[in-house]
Amino acid sequence: MRDLAKLPKAHLHLHFTGSMRLDTLVELASATRTRLPASFIDGDPLHVPADHRGWFRFQRSYDTARALVRSEEIMRRLVLEAALDDAAEGSRRLEIQVDPTSYAPYVGGLTPALEIILDAAQQATLLSGVEVAVVVAASRIRHPLDARTLARLAVRHAGEGPGQVVGFGLSNDERAGDTSSWAAAFAIARRAGLASLPHGGELLGPEHVRAVVSALAPTRLGHGVRLSEDPALLDQVVEAGISLEVCPASNVCLGVYHEPGDVPLGVLRAHGAQVALGADDPLLFHSRLVDQYEIARGQGLDDAALAELARGSIRASLATEGSKRRWLAEVDAWLAAPQTEGEAEAARG
Ligand SMILES: [Zn+2]
Repeated sequence: MRDLAKLPKAHLHLHFTGSMRLDTLVELASATRTRLPASFIDGDPLHVPADHRGWFRFQRSYDTARALVRSEEIMRRLVLEAALDDAAEGSRRLEIQVDPTSYAPYVGGLTPALEIILDAAQQATLLSGVEVAVVVAASRIRHPLDARTLARLAVRHAGEGPGQVVGFGLSNDERAGDTSSWAAAFAIARRAGLASLPHGGELLGPEHVRAVVSALAPTRLGHGVRLSEDPALLDQVVEAGISLEVCPASNVCLGVYHEPGDVPLGVLRAHGAQVALGADDPLLFHSRLVDQYEIARGQGLDDAALAELARGSIRASLATEGSKRRWLAEVDAWLAAPQTEGEAEAARG
């Protein structure tokens, strides 16, 4: 079995605050004398039922962490640490998701908040070797007009490279709000060439995926795992070229599936879905990028199948074709390399 941390891959589903290292959280909390909820320090990942109360508990923990991010310095630190951690896990490309709204009050507004993130992403790219691009995400618990404001801000920084905005997302409780009310914001983003990257098909099933697909025309779906419950719809999504950002540990922690083995990777793959594994919120789920590939390995995927997952993540990324070609060749090299010292010996003759 080859080292999954060395498998080249792209990380397409990671939230800015949720990427925070636990050590950083503890340090920020002690500096501000903030009491952290036990769930952060008891060493166990968050585990909640897949209902409104469960989501509320998740959101409360997330908000505690987010409230500690109150300066440009901390924002820059988070982006850099996320990139360095990704680099250590073989990631070549990180598309990090951020809603600048929460940090705007501490840095002089929405525009500076996004500009700080983008500049930090560019610097982190140089320091980590991972291309860090940004997805601006609106929140379902805010007014759809706020989403339009965010979309207009996002398009001013549209591009495909490091430190640029590559897509527009919609996060928070999938059950909140009416999906079609965000169509206008996504239309603004898409017209400017941004990819449409909304969450859908995790807490709600196929019916909601249908609504997301028709109202927001996604390039990729954040999660989409519940498509396994409707094979015909899954086929349509695959046919439409929509990739899935699958986050197995997140699904289990949020009560969508019981065990990592229940996450329907097999069904999605059998239907030809292009899957990019992601960690979502490692701070809360205590599970990083490589852990998601370990979960896939635990479901019986061999190294060739894991390499194919990594290729899927690279193809589903919004990087340039040149970058993708380079990383895909690196995946081939990972798979072609000898697995053991014995094989290496034999290869050397
Ligand atoms: Zn997410």
